[in-house]
Amino acid sequence: MIRRVIAGNWKMNKTVAESVAFATRLRAAFDTPPGPEVIIAPPFTALRAVAEVIRGSFIALCAQNLHEAQKGAYTGEISAGMLLDAGCTCVIIGHSERRTLFGEGNDRINRKLQTALAAGLKPIFCVGESLRQREEDETETVIAHQLKEGLNNLTADDIGRLAIAYEPVWAIGTGKTASPEQAGKVHRFIREWIGHRCGAECAAAIAILYGGSVTPENIAGLMAQPEINGGLIGGASLDVDSFIRMIGN
Ligand code: PEP
Repeated sequence: MIRRVIAGNWKMNKTVAESVAFATRLRAAFDTPPGPEVIIAPPFTALRAVAEVIRGSFIALCAQNLHEAQKGAYTGEISAGMLLDAGCTCVIIGHSERRTLFGEGNDRINRKLQTALAAGLKPIFCVGESLRQREEDETETVIAHQLKEGLNNLTADDIGRLAIAYEPVWAIGTGKTASPEQAGKVHRFIREWIGHRCGAECAAAIAILYGGSVTPENIAGLMAQPEINGGLIGGASLDVDSFIRMIGN
């Protein structure tokens, strides 16, 4: 049985004070740890302060990106070691905004995955098709390509340490959610693909999250799909009460 994961991706939102207030309220909202694994991904500037607030709690700290090199002349970038030092245990890699706005291709994403895994960070590896690709019936081809190249050279053991997020690009921040059936079908495809790549046991244990306009109103329908093991949530994770509702759902 895969434990459900509820992850909030704050993107480029919240000051340090706002992040600390959110984390403080989230921590206080549960007397005992909730059923799902709870992950928040604040902006880099707030990681350290949020780490202090959530230390020893049920909340895991996640970064939104990293650079694949260990260190060096990469102005503006953040290394895996820096994320560990700030208190992160996981990192989002391959988000569609990184792919489309910052030109990150599958090859680069593969190097980032390798760096994160080598450092002991758990990657949340994002894949997803564009609207044009869905309309042209290319969804599975695109996802298979992203999986094949993104996971190149990774061992079954490495792959077993990832979470995968299926995030259809047309559903991110648009208010258009994939229907539970549409999402469930792609999740099934991903799990089968992983099964061929690293075996049935590995595929059965890997958490596959759905992301794309998840809200407190639609989360229950999505999570009712047997292949959906959680959510990677952007907009609706920014409000702490909305996020708490989605954890409790
Ligand atoms: C995301 O950023 O990963 C995301 C799914 O955003 P939203 O929930 O706003 O669509």
